Amino acid sequence: QFPFGRRLPCDIYWHGVSFHDNNIFSGQVNKFPGSMMETVRKITLSRAMRTMQDLFPLEYNFYPRSWILPEELPLFVAEVRVMKDSDPSWKPTFIVKPDGGCQGDGIYLIKDPSDIRLTGSIHSRPAVVQEYICKPLLVDKLKFDIRLYVLLKSLEPLEIYIAKDGLSRFCTEPYQEPTLKNLHQVFMHLTNYSLNIHSENFIHSDSVNTGSKRTFSSILCRLSSRGADVKKLWSDIISLVIKTIIALTPELKVYYQSDIPSGKPGPTCFQILGFDILLMKNLKPILLEVNANPSMRIEHEQELSPGVFENVPSPVDEEVKVAVIRDTLRLVDPQKKKRKDAQSRCFVARGVRVGGGWRGLSSAPSPPGPSVMLCRRCPRLEHVPESSESLPDAVPEPEAARSPEAGLPSLCLKQVFPKYAKQFSYLRLVDRVAALFIRFLGVKGTTKLGPTGFRTFVRNCKLSNSNFSMAAVDILYIDITRRWNSMGIDHKESGMCLQAFVEAFFCLAQKKYKSLPLHEQVLSLIEFCECHLAALDEKRLVWGWG
Ligand code: ADP
Repeated sequence: QFPFGRRLPCDIYWHGVSFHDNNIFSGQVNKFPGSMMETVRKITLSRAMRTMQDLFPLEYNFYPRSWILPEELPLFVAEVRVMKDSDPSWKPTFIVKPDGGCQGDGIYLIKDPSDIRLTGSIHSRPAVVQEYICKPLLVDKLKFDIRLYVLLKSLEPLEIYIAKDGLSRFCTEPYQEPTLKNLHQVFMHLTNYSLNIHSENFIHSDSVNTGSKRTFSSILCRLSSRGADVKKLWSDIISLVIKTIIALTPELKVYYQSDIPSGKPGPTCFQILGFDILLMKNLKPILLEVNANPSMRIEHEQELSPGVFENVPSPVDEEVKVAVIRDTLRLVDPQKKKRKDAQSRCFVARGVRVGGGWRGLSSAPSPPGPSVMLCRRCPRLEHVPESSESLPDAVPEPEAARSPEAGLPSLCLKQVFPKYAKQFSYLRLVDRVAALFIRFLGVKGTTKLGPTGFRTFVRNCKLSNSNFSMAAVDILYIDITRRWNSMGIDHKESGMCLQAFVEAFFCLAQKKYKSLPLHEQVLSLIEFCECHLAALDEKRLVWGWG
């Protein structure tokens, strides 16, 4: 531990909360610079998901319909009224969550938009109001959610790993669908460990498949024994994780380039994220939130006598979390690649074929999502070791290339991206819009686009014409930027943030390609811009403009 920092360079830096260290020039850091905390706040996540839902409504229907308060309160009221008028039998419930809150803090349920508590706090503390999922899957009559650990190993190129096992956190009162009478019963509706631990019904268990916190694989075992299609469930969860990260990467890239500009020495970053997922009765996974700093504690507090607490080991946490940290270190280990190269050189020379892959449970046709492989004993994601781990026993390893991983269990982290990249690359439109945004940011270190940058973007991409004058371009810039800055959380810099640029880009796309669906309009405009910029780059190269 280096509480006051460290001068000598390290291979891997493991920071507790966030990373704001400008003195690291190499190695790998376990946090993305500053931004991830912002990016996964409830409002920012909801905005990013909304953009993707506008582009791809069916692909992103795993995130509940959400509205941002206070600015979208009139929209929320109006939309609910329209939906109720068109379907009088619809009796919705909504959940209000303060932005930046965690552990269930300040959360409450309402039946009608008029029940939102407007007294002071909503303006000082913005919130998200969201459709409440009324029919969750129950186990032992209790609502539960899943915490899955995801390793974002690299942003460019995108590399995502998912842990084979996660945690299931249980409510402590039997679930009933929300009524005016039970709305306030947090032990029935909220699965947060930090809340339920205070219930007298909370069960600490030494076993991973009983009690108020269990492994996700133990739930899957039960579902599988009841005949549920667990393979499809895993495939849906993998899709949810990949799509969510695709929604978050554009913003992360903007912050990344501002903290660690390309071409300058700096570390590479990776980060462990906690995905909170709810399963509906029909086994559809729903994303609740993404946690940038998930708790890695493997013990819990026990009250020995009133006011006297002791930390005791928690076998469930240990089973899941130790594997996640161990395997994250194995995956980012800078020596691993060197060893791998040395081994393959050695074995290719001896004529041994090096190979690996994922073992399938059955040859049944794959579900529409990624095809997943399951372990025979327990229906969690299983892994056939990578090349460096799968060398035949009969061949002795040369001393120099022997892997220190030889005695370790197989990896619990399964690569899902780029493995399934082909199925999801069409969703990465906002990423390409962000690349345009970053190109015109100009001065390194900023995250907002100035009016000149926006004008240059329009001019270089040849978007202005007789129907769209440069004066109209300025008005568009001012209108959108002013609105976003008036509701934004980040007032540190002036100018147009990425989300505002995305809105302006969608506007331009709609103007130019009127008759197409939104995602085709946006794709057409991206290709149009990229084409003009490529031509410009070529010209500059030929004329040596630099
Ligand atoms: P926090 O960061 O405060 O934990 P969450 O978004 O995770 O906030 O919500 C807290 C709990 O509320 C979740 O663990 C879940 O049990 C419940 N919850 C949140 N959103 C929904 C929803 N849309 N439908 C049903 N339950 C929800």
